[in-house]
Amino acid sequence: MKKSEIIKRDKERIANTYARYEMVADKGRGAVCYDESGKRYIDFVSGIGVNSLGFCDDGWINAVTEQLKKLQHVSNLYYTEPQIKVAEILTARTGMEKVFFSNSGAEANEAAIKITRKYSNSQSENSRNEIITLKNSFHGRTMATITATGQDQYHSHFFPFLSGFSYCPPNDMDALRSAVSDETCAVMLELVQGEGGVVNLEEAFVKDVEALCQEKGMLLIVDEVQTGIGRTGKFFAYEHFGISPDLITFAKGVGGGLPIGGVILGKTVANVLEPGNHGTTYGGNPVACAGALEVLSRIDETFLAEVEKKGEYLKKALEKLPKVKSVSGMGLMLGVELEGETAKDAVEKALQNGLMLLTAKEKIRMLPPLVIEYQEIDEGLKILEDILK
Ligand SMILES: *Cc1c(COP(=O)(O)O)cnc(C)c1O
Repeated sequence: MKKSEIIKRDKERIANTYARYEMVADKGRGAVCYDESGKRYIDFVSGIGVNSLGFCDDGWINAVTEQLKKLQHVSNLYYTEPQIKVAEILTARTGMEKVFFSNSGAEANEAAIKITRKYSNSQSENSRNEIITLKNSFHGRTMATITATGQDQYHSHFFPFLSGFSYCPPNDMDALRSAVSDETCAVMLELVQGEGGVVNLEEAFVKDVEALCQEKGMLLIVDEVQTGIGRTGKFFAYEHFGISPDLITFAKGVGGGLPIGGVILGKTVANVLEPGNHGTTYGGNPVACAGALEVLSRIDETFLAEVEKKGEYLKKALEKLPKVKSVSGMGLMLGVELEGETAKDAVEKALQNGLMLLTAKEKIRMLPPLVIEYQEIDEGLKILEDILK
């Protein structure tokens, strides 16, 4: 089909939920994508931090297709090997106890919220169920997770929202301390707020939140859906902060492009869920898990050090570009604040010139595949430099 026809038919038959860019993606390899006309694009987005090994990685294709030829799905009422292996890797890397698998980030957070509430409601001497999240956060699109999301723009149309959530500005410990009541059972946060504009949380704030949670017997839930699985140069971003969350949610990058997510549970909450409390038909699907196993097997210390180095390289180069006011983020999750040009315009121009970028609030957001090569980073930087000058 021709581009114009695809766009016309999409507009007729696909629900109008995305402000799509004018590009029909057709195929890709590594950090390079091609549209339907064969035009080449450097990929600085990897979906939205999903294709961690880039497009169509050979090892990943092999792992996924071998599993496809064996068993594509069986109900979670039976045992499967790939699921156990993924859970063993995630618990070994975090020193935590158990995993619940979902298919997406929102469902991962939904599970974390349910587990937190079941645990906290069952504390006989101190039953409580309010969760504090941060303003400017993003936790997903289900009813519970848009309620958890601390942005007013999400809190319209779909009334009534859940009760039991309150919101505090990031990096403001006084506000958080005074928001805690006898009803508060948990604090939930992203360590670098992705959708909110690539906003880094301060280490002192994060450490103080952890200390407050310990003092008050509240759970600490860290949403690593975007920051996890090597994205920031550590396996999980919480390692940069020296904290030990009670629940960690993950999704986006873990499947290398297949839908899988979940929540990793520490000791306190490892055995909260019992048969019948929660579940999903597809969660931990063997094909998605085979993809995840390949991704996880590649992310060793050498790989993570490379992510960190490439992130530093990209950040330094971005800071030298015209109209760049500041660069936030960690590793290969970066936000670029511009002056004299809107991020939206820059991203559209970049796309026309063969570079895929995202926005996050007023910033350009970059989430390149973790395997991007220096030469591809340079190519992307050159395109961006040309449109900014
Ligand atoms: C993307 C994202 C989600 C939602 O993930 P979905 O897979 O789209 O449901 C939740 N939290 C964070 C931090 C995210 O970046």
